[in-house]
Amino acid sequence: PPRAVDPGRMDEDAGEVGLRPQTLEDFTGQKASRENLAIFIAAARARGEAMDHVLLHGPPGLGKTTLAQIVARELGVGFRATSGPVIQRAGDLAAILTNLQPRDVLFIDEIHRLQPAIEEVLYPAMEDFQLDLIIGEGPAARSVRIDLSPFTLVAATTRAGLLATPLRDRFGIPLRLVFYTAEELRQIVSRGARKLQFDLTPEGAEEIARRSRGTPRIAGRLLRRVRDFASVARPGPVDRAMADAALSRLEVDSLGLDAMDRRYLRRIAEFHHGGPVGVETLAAALAEARDTLEDVVEPYLIQEGLVLRTSRGRMLGERGWRHLGLQPPARQAD
Ligand code: ATP
Repeated sequence: PPRAVDPGRMDEDAGEVGLRPQTLEDFTGQKASRENLAIFIAAARARGEAMDHVLLHGPPGLGKTTLAQIVARELGVGFRATSGPVIQRAGDLAAILTNLQPRDVLFIDEIHRLQPAIEEVLYPAMEDFQLDLIIGEGPAARSVRIDLSPFTLVAATTRAGLLATPLRDRFGIPLRLVFYTAEELRQIVSRGARKLQFDLTPEGAEEIARRSRGTPRIAGRLLRRVRDFASVARPGPVDRAMADAALSRLEVDSLGLDAMDRRYLRRIAEFHHGGPVGVETLAAALAEARDTLEDVVEPYLIQEGLVLRTSRGRMLGERGWRHLGLQPPARQAD
């Protein structure tokens, strides 16, 4: 079964659309990014120009798509979305770009998965709003230049380091999204419960928030799972005990870790005496893709100090040992 705490998109999340904040004001958390965007949006509006290109980077499920939509809405322009892997040929990108209205927002998710040849098409488009296309083949081939409407590219990626430097340098507004605090998530969960007309006590919301690993998408999913659980249990408001029972049933522990996370931690503890161990070794042992470990599993474990990333590999942090109920090995005297 899919992991309840996987921050990636799942079919069951389709119901989340109604929970999406619609304005910058409604958007909880990400204070630094929000304040930055508010200034750039106001300036672009005042000048009547397309806003500078934005690069959103950070772990999945933190609201990159949501923010991109909000930027378009606040700018009062159209919104068009696509993603790196969907754009197969230069012509696909050209078709999208030539259809944009002046100042529109084009959102490209997973921009790090764009093919290099297509990236080349994007450069002059971003820089000079021009498209250089080769038409025809062989000796008859010629290049044509097409003027585009000025537009704002909002691109999303899990790690900025995955982008080629020339691409990264073309974004005037790079914004790093960070994990949400428990209090921010509690607000998001409470608001979501109200929208779902689900009677959840503040303590119940807090319990869901605490176990959502800093990620609104997971908070939304756990909220719906708890609601399903509650609907077949007893009537009345859902409190902390009920939320706890539902989440324990899903094997989501007190820190929001699930079986996959614990398997990862235990592997480092039991097979590598706490590390350091290379990520490739861990990926092979756990039969997971390295990218999945790096993008989905590790960021939260690292942020929480359960795992440390060192130049020699991953190590179990003090908190990691404690969370497994194990004693860290005695430190060697320096
Ligand atoms: P991915 O990186 O996987 O594309 P994402 O970062 O684009 O994910 P979104 O799809 O924007 O994430 O958001 C995931 C879910 O979390 C949505 O249901 C959205 O409504 C909710 N969400 C995101 N940010 C917030 C927020 N600040 N307040 C309330 N809900 C939020």
